[in-house]
Amino acid sequence: MKKDRAVVDIKLPRVSSEEILDLMQNASLKELGERAFKIKQKLHPDNLTTFVVDRNINYTNICWVDCKFCAFKRRVNEEGTYILSFEEIDKKIEELLSIGGTQILFQGGVHPSLKIEWYEDLVSHIAKKYPQITIHGFSAIEINYIAKISKISIQEVLSRLQKCGLSSIPGAGAEILSDSVRDVIAPKKLDSDEWIEVHREAHKLGIKSTATMMFGSVESDRDIVEHWERIRNLQDITNGFRAFILWSFQPAFTPLQKEMPHLHKASSNRYLRLLACSRIFLDNFQNIQSSWVTQGSYIGQLALLFGANDLGSTMMEENVVAAAGARNSMNEKEMINLIKDIGEIPAKRNTAYDILERF
Ligand code: SF4
Repeated sequence: MKKDRAVVDIKLPRVSSEEILDLMQNASLKELGERAFKIKQKLHPDNLTTFVVDRNINYTNICWVDCKFCAFKRRVNEEGTYILSFEEIDKKIEELLSIGGTQILFQGGVHPSLKIEWYEDLVSHIAKKYPQITIHGFSAIEINYIAKISKISIQEVLSRLQKCGLSSIPGAGAEILSDSVRDVIAPKKLDSDEWIEVHREAHKLGIKSTATMMFGSVESDRDIVEHWERIRNLQDITNGFRAFILWSFQPAFTPLQKEMPHLHKASSNRYLRLLACSRIFLDNFQNIQSSWVTQGSYIGQLALLFGANDLGSTMMEENVVAAAGARNSMNEKEMINLIKDIGEIPAKRNTAYDILERF
C-alpha cells in the first residue's frame, strides 16, 4: 500500500500541556526556534520544503453567522453579495489549470438557505468537468449548517459530498477551540465539540482534513494550549489531519476591532513563538504550514526556521484575509527562491503531500 506522506511515522517525545505553557511563556525565541527546527528535521530529513499551487474559490460571501473577526461576509440583503455561477467557477478553474494548479480550496460564507442538493450539484459538476482537480472544500461550520438545514446527519452530508467528488476538508472555523473565546468572537458559530465532531466524522469516512488556529483576539495562553490538546487528542485517535496551520487575527474593518479598539495585529515575534510551540506540541502532525498570507513573505520564510515545513499555497486568489487588509501575494517562482534562500529544496506537492516536482 502507498505510504501516506502526511502520517507521522516516527515517535517523538510527548510534551505535556503544562510543559508547553511554560515554554510559551518563559523560553527564549532562539530556544523555541532551535527546538522546533530540530523536530522538523527529524520529520523531514529529506530537506524538502513543499508548496501547493491552488486557488481559493469563495463561492458566496452571503453568511448569517456574523463572526466578529470577519470582514468578508455580507448579509442576504446587503449590497455587494454574490453567489458564483458554475460558469464563473469554471473560468476560475481553467485559469488555475493554465498555471499548473492541482487544488481548489472551496469555501463560502454560510448561506442561510442552500441545502445539500445545491452542494451536490456543484461538487459533481466540478468533479466531472475537471477530474484532475482536487476539491478541498467546506469548513466545519458549512458542513454543520448544511446538515441542519437539510435535516440530515453530518455523516450523511460528508458521505454524499464525498460520493460527488469532495476529497478533503479545510480546518477553517476552528479559530480557538475553547468555548469561552468562541462565545465572544463568534457566538453564533458551532462550538468546539461540534468542530471536532465534523472532523472526526470526516476522518471516519476517509476524508482527510487540516486543522487551523486563529490567535491574537481575546484568548489566553491556556486557551491556545486547550486548542492544541483537542486537535492532538483527535489526531491520536484518527490520524486524519494532514497539517496544522496557524494564522493571526487580522483586525482591520472587523466588528471585533470596532468593539475592542485596543486589539491590534499580533507581532511577528508572537507568531514565530506560537508556531515553534505548535511544532513542539503537535508531535502527531507531520506537516506545519507557514502562513505567509497573514505574515508576509519574509516572516513566512523565517517560519521555515521555526518548525514549518510547507509554504502552503501560491494562493492565486484570496478574498477573506484580503477583506481585512492583509494583501500579500507570492507566485511559484518567488516561493522557490525563498525556500532555496534558506538552504532547503523546494518541491511542488498535491493535496495529499505527495511530491509532484522538485526544483
Ligand atoms: S468567518 Fe466564515 S462563518 Fe464567520 S462570518 Fe465570516 S464567512 Fe461567515
